[in-house]
Amino acid sequence: IDSKLPKVGTTIFTVIGQLAQQHNAINLSQGFPNFSPDSKLLALVNKALVADHNQYAPMQGAMGLRETISEKTENLYGRYYDPGSEITITAGATQAIFTAIAAFIKPGDEVVVLKPAYDCYEPSIELFGGVVVPVQLEGPDFKVNWDVFKAAITQKTKIVIINTPHNPTGSIWSASDMLRLQSVLEGTSILLLSDEVYEHIIFDGVPHESVSKFPDLASRSLICSSFGKTFHVTGWKMGYCIAPKELMKEFQKVHQFNVFSVNHPAQIALQDYLKHSEHYLELGAFYQKKRDYFLAAIQNSRFGMHPSQGTYFQLLDYSTITDKKDTDFAERLIKEFGLASIPVSVFCTEDYDQRLLRFCFAKTEEVLDQAAEILNRI
Ligand code: PMP
Ligand code: GLN
Repeated sequence: IDSKLPKVGTTIFTVIGQLAQQHNAINLSQGFPNFSPDSKLLALVNKALVADHNQYAPMQGAMGLRETISEKTENLYGRYYDPGSEITITAGATQAIFTAIAAFIKPGDEVVVLKPAYDCYEPSIELFGGVVVPVQLEGPDFKVNWDVFKAAITQKTKIVIINTPHNPTGSIWSASDMLRLQSVLEGTSILLLSDEVYEHIIFDGVPHESVSKFPDLASRSLICSSFGKTFHVTGWKMGYCIAPKELMKEFQKVHQFNVFSVNHPAQIALQDYLKHSEHYLELGAFYQKKRDYFLAAIQNSRFGMHPSQGTYFQLLDYSTITDKKDTDFAERLIKEFGLASIPVSVFCTEDYDQRLLRFCFAKTEEVLDQAAEILNRI
């Protein structure tokens, strides 16, 4: 077969998930909570089903849900997005990202991707003939080296993809990072795809810097978010994209033929829930407690750690334990110790040579205790 994606295999989340299951390992690999969403939200899904919201939703998404997203975005970040023309509900952030790339990338267009990068960006770019231009994030905080970034921008750059809070490193962008990006992009027609799925999972009182706060960035940005992360419902695959009208028009041209519209009862439930709950405002504190619990439980282990600043992931450095490659060490952890994590190299360029594993702490204290007991023994 003449594969369109010859270098792509099965995603690490599926591979590690299966291995973890085979070995009955504690699974801190794929990012998802092991606890239930709010029972009020579940009741609202049932209500939506009984009220017979069982046929196609509008192509752009249920209007009430778009309105609540518009209000939330304006309240939090100070920018108004028109629910009629600037918001689309998608099948998770994954479909939002794929659709944004499909709508704008032509063969030969370059896309700057900051590495490590979440794994869905690059295959989507390559499917449409785009060229990935990787830029390595640097130092323990995975910051942008602006000289390297500027050198990566060319006449062919069509999109820059950023992700804050950042999967897999847990680093975040500050306002000054955003202003720096704004000045580099000023005067160009480069688009920004801003992956903000962890916008509400940010710690230590630091605010999330959405690109929507920065007028010049917002005017060139498609922002993707995910209800899965915010409401503990990753299995629903519900998310959205917001962007200025002229960008959203192109996005919807693809969306309408890619999926047309997404799960209607879930949209109605989320719309009703968002009207009466600001649960997301407490999400940072909720996950910060889990981060702190996990880190305190392994503080005497041999693993090195910089506390995650956002997301529900924590990187652990095992360089004092072994020099083995992370993929090998992750496999050994599953098979010999019964603990699953994600090797960071899968998000990196080929020359990556660090000793880091990613652990998901969106788990009950009981599971975090079990994981810590193993990590303390290694
Ligand atoms: N972007 C990042 C950075 C993610 O971590 C994820 C989820 N793992 C996604 C996008 C996709 O989100 P969803 O599950 O809503 O498709
Ligand atoms: N975003 C999740 C993670 O990083 C995984 C989603 C997926 O399995 N594709 O763990």
